[in-house]
Amino acid sequence: MGGFGLRRAERICYNRIVMNIFLTGGSGYIGSVTTELLCDGGHEVVVFDNLERGHLEAVDPRARLMVGDLRDARCVRDAMRAVRPDAVVHFAAYALVGESMQNPMMYFDNNLGGGLHLLEAMLQTGVRKIIFSSTCATYGQPEVMPMTETLPQKPTNPYGESKLMLETALRWEQERRGIQPVFLRYFNACGATEKYGEDHEPETHIIPNVLKVALGQARAVPVFGDDYETLDGTCIRDYIHIVDLARAHILALEKEVAGPFNLGTGSGYSVKQVIETCREVTGHEIPVEMSPRRPGDPACLVAGAGKAREQLGWTPVRSDMKTIVQDAWNWHQRHPRGYRS
Ligand code: UDP
Repeated sequence: MGGFGLRRAERICYNRIVMNIFLTGGSGYIGSVTTELLCDGGHEVVVFDNLERGHLEAVDPRARLMVGDLRDARCVRDAMRAVRPDAVVHFAAYALVGESMQNPMMYFDNNLGGGLHLLEAMLQTGVRKIIFSSTCATYGQPEVMPMTETLPQKPTNPYGESKLMLETALRWEQERRGIQPVFLRYFNACGATEKYGEDHEPETHIIPNVLKVALGQARAVPVFGDDYETLDGTCIRDYIHIVDLARAHILALEKEVAGPFNLGTGSGYSVKQVIETCREVTGHEIPVEMSPRRPGDPACLVAGAGKAREQLGWTPVRSDMKTIVQDAWNWHQRHPRGYRS
């Protein structure tokens, strides 16, 4: 198989191992910040991205950008051959649950089909290691909290299913041809760095939607349901700062690990608590508009994140709600219209 060990050993400089990373989706929210942190650490990053939903401005200028589409098998194979990376970090995917319910094929074509082309290109080039951006949506709506990696995976939408199917393909190629896949199953990604933040169109996530109200771009934030069986009736989620998420990818690259890791803090915040923290940070009153439940929203999703702590040595350091909101607020104030600002 490929020269993973050899090339790594050759490029040790200043007692540090410099990795050559093929990173898909580096113009997106989590991909941009992971690229930033990898570049900060002196690693070489090639971003492979079709720029369909991401932003050119979000691609760290220290990385090399290859514009291409994962659905084009030849394009992926040629890019992988040209780069011959030590490892792949795979973010590029569609990620809207609602859209996946409307158009499942679109999700299987891009997330699964594109992912399989990437896997094939790795096998042909002899690249073994892949850090795959997976999701807690692969578990569906478990009864047991907190959620550990051993829970059965029963996704309730095509988005989660498409991610699970690629996990499955990677697992089989781990057994058969020595691929070394790491599945990072994210809980609720949020926050920002000084340079890169959250800019989706349409925006569906709670924190940027609340901050839009504080910026005067919306009158009130809808609260989707206050009759859940939770302490204050609103849904509980495990919010994790993207800097902490990005750090987990780097640890997974550096360590000899494989398999699934849940990335969350292990504590949950309700929608009302999130809004309250946004009020404190922004000083804005943030009116709310009680709205019906959003279809498919589970009442509570909280990670059991012990495995990532033990095996990756990962500890979230920026994921208390106040820091998350402060970082997001700083970014949104500087970019009130997102990357177009
Ligand atoms: N939510 C809300 N108003 C919004 C956006 C989201 O009340 O404008 C709620 C949503 O119903 C869920 C929680 O906030 O209970 C987190 O939603 P988000 O879309 O941020 O993440 P998800 O958990 O759906 O991936």
